[in-house]
Amino acid sequence: MKLKELENPIETLPGVGPSTASNFAKLNIFKISDLLSCYPKNYEDRTKKLPLKEFSSGQKIHSIVQVISHEWFGYGRMRTLKIIVTDGESQASLVCFNRPFMEKTLPVDSIVAVTAKYSFQYGQIQSSSFDAERIAYGGTLQDFQKMADPTAKVLPIYPLTSGLTQNQFRKAVSQALKMYAKGIDDELPQDTLQNQNLMHKKDAIFTIHQGQNLLQIEDARRTIKFEELYFFQEQIIKQSRERNNVAIKPKNELIDLSPRQKKLLSTLPFELTPDQKAIINTINEEIELSEKNAAIHDSIAFETLQSQAILHGSRVATDTTVNKDARSSAPGSVASTTSTNFTLARLVQGDVGSGKTLVAFFAALRIIDWGGQVVLLAPTELLARQHAENASKILSNCNVNVSFLTGNLNTKGRNNLLASIKNGNTQLIIGTHAVFSRNVQYENLQLAIIDEQHRFGVVQRNLIKEKCTIPNILMMSATPSPQTLAQVVFSNLDVSTIKSMPKGRLPIQTHLTKPGNESIVYETVRKELNQGHQAYFVYPMIENEEEEPAQDLFASKKIKNATEMFEFLSKDVYPQFKCALIHSKIDENEQNQILDDFRMNKIQIIVATTVVEVGVDVPNATCMVIEQAERFGLAALHQLRGRVGRSNLQSHCFLIYGNNLTKIGKERLKAMYETTDGFKIAELDLKLRGPGEVSGIQQSGYLSLGLSDPLYDKELLELARSEVLAH
Ligand code: ADP
Ligand code: MG
Repeated sequence: MKLKELENPIETLPGVGPSTASNFAKLNIFKISDLLSCYPKNYEDRTKKLPLKEFSSGQKIHSIVQVISHEWFGYGRMRTLKIIVTDGESQASLVCFNRPFMEKTLPVDSIVAVTAKYSFQYGQIQSSSFDAERIAYGGTLQDFQKMADPTAKVLPIYPLTSGLTQNQFRKAVSQALKMYAKGIDDELPQDTLQNQNLMHKKDAIFTIHQGQNLLQIEDARRTIKFEELYFFQEQIIKQSRERNNVAIKPKNELIDLSPRQKKLLSTLPFELTPDQKAIINTINEEIELSEKNAAIHDSIAFETLQSQAILHGSRVATDTTVNKDARSSAPGSVASTTSTNFTLARLVQGDVGSGKTLVAFFAALRIIDWGGQVVLLAPTELLARQHAENASKILSNCNVNVSFLTGNLNTKGRNNLLASIKNGNTQLIIGTHAVFSRNVQYENLQLAIIDEQHRFGVVQRNLIKEKCTIPNILMMSATPSPQTLAQVVFSNLDVSTIKSMPKGRLPIQTHLTKPGNESIVYETVRKELNQGHQAYFVYPMIENEEEEPAQDLFASKKIKNATEMFEFLSKDVYPQFKCALIHSKIDENEQNQILDDFRMNKIQIIVATTVVEVGVDVPNATCMVIEQAERFGLAALHQLRGRVGRSNLQSHCFLIYGNNLTKIGKERLKAMYETTDGFKIAELDLKLRGPGEVSGIQQSGYLSLGLSDPLYDKELLELARSEVLAH
């Protein structure tokens, strides 16, 4: 029987009653299979004996000791036993809060195995959280220390929830193993087990829960991870074999443009980059395919159609044929919730300023030429508005009706707008997720473009499907992910990558500045301002919420905030320039006004928090100053830096750090200094942050493989993949 087929409820286990079961339910554990596939999140290793003095705070150690004496302190009900023990070298006191009976269990002279977290208190090694197992009532300590430890074991640590104890969890798992483990069958092919030195599934399950040394357990974990990755890869590969073949033309020429696309191309004052061209070609083919499909199949047939075009417009155009299996889908429930019937379902990722928006406009025009409508979704009103302005400018000769759908419209304006969306007059609708609200009805929506999707987590694809007559989806992300990550997070999306930057862009110069040298930066920025350019100053906080503790003698320890720095910069440093303060607490209309004025160079300096992190596109801005830069995440720093370097002017990014540079903070700054490549930065960001913390993954729930992490277990993933291909 397969593990997942063990469907008996856990109440059938001896010792698991309704109340325990309801506690397990909080952890989504209902069936035996749920219980057995809830793997320990950690282990307590009682196989290694350590001398007391080698304790490190917060960590449990396991030692063989002898009881020297009992002491009591406190009075009445607070009277508490303290057991003094020695390991022959050092002494420790075990404080037995509420455990007076320990006096009898651990009499003087007894030899005891103690597992405890210690700390130094009053000059003593002390523990009040310990486990003790008596080995003998007396004898010579050294003899017992040399002997094999009869209490040696590895204890699994499970995730708990209120009301559920480790012991209950362990007992339930023990029972389940006893009753069911022997019957668990292998799911991987036998030759794969042999080739890859894997355990049988039943042994792996047993060992991961009750293995008696960490090496064994590691083997079991490897087996289980391998299995997960195998089926993960199998699914990806199966899908890529099933899909329709689309001829890929890795040319540097744009082919088969629609009339409006031709028009747009002819009005551009610059040439598209090869990557932009390749992606536009790809998208055009996919859109065409989706129209054909729509014509052939009625909507029900379309539901089951799995004809996703998989193209991979990455790096350079000739790369477009590699990694055809980029479409990925996590197994099980994940796949079903995201199963696409989108023909175009593509993530366009590219570094900030690489020209993704333009690519999206090309896609929109194609759809509009086919008589469809397009929505462009931005994460904030601010960005949506900017897109709308940008679109009406760029598309002004293309005969497109563009609307900005904001929550702020008055009722009359809104009703008119909604009517024109419903009757198809408006062809391109730009807004926040309000564009998918119930009262917005479309005549013929065929494409949803989603900007900076990482802000959305996973956009409700069902919503998109509901609204669309022909569902196509195009996402744009400026937080580039390493390929493997993109596959996982955006399962069921094809990934295109814009690697080349528009011609003539000068790499941004990044300067690291130590605290105390701010004025040098301010003066350098002044030179830029004097040449008619503009600057951003970014701070970690809007205002200081609470005063820093009084003992904080270092003024520089204080977190700089935008509000105070705005006062300082506008009055004391740059009185001759126009400054504005912008952050999330400022009224949105005012924010818009400020950004407009900044764009028109009525304002030269913006003092801000990370609100300016995404999307703001003002080519004349050449300076980005980030103070206390170590307080920002790497992705944020990179995004912020991407606000400059958007024209042929030389731009600068000044990273001023504070006095309390941590190791990670230093690494981030170093990375920023050494590279402007968003992909390298993203990869490093992952390493520094660890799995699960990466933007969007956790919320998205896509990463539900269990033990394995396709990014961290890259090598195992490769092995699993080669096994899948061999079968
Ligand atoms: P992204 O959305 O990828 O950050 P944008 O699409 O906002 O980048 O483009 C940044 C700027 O570069 C815009 O002002 C845009 O008009 C311009 N741009 C886009 N493509 C090109 C190109 N091929 N050559 C020159 N400038 C370009
Ligand atoms: Mg953009």
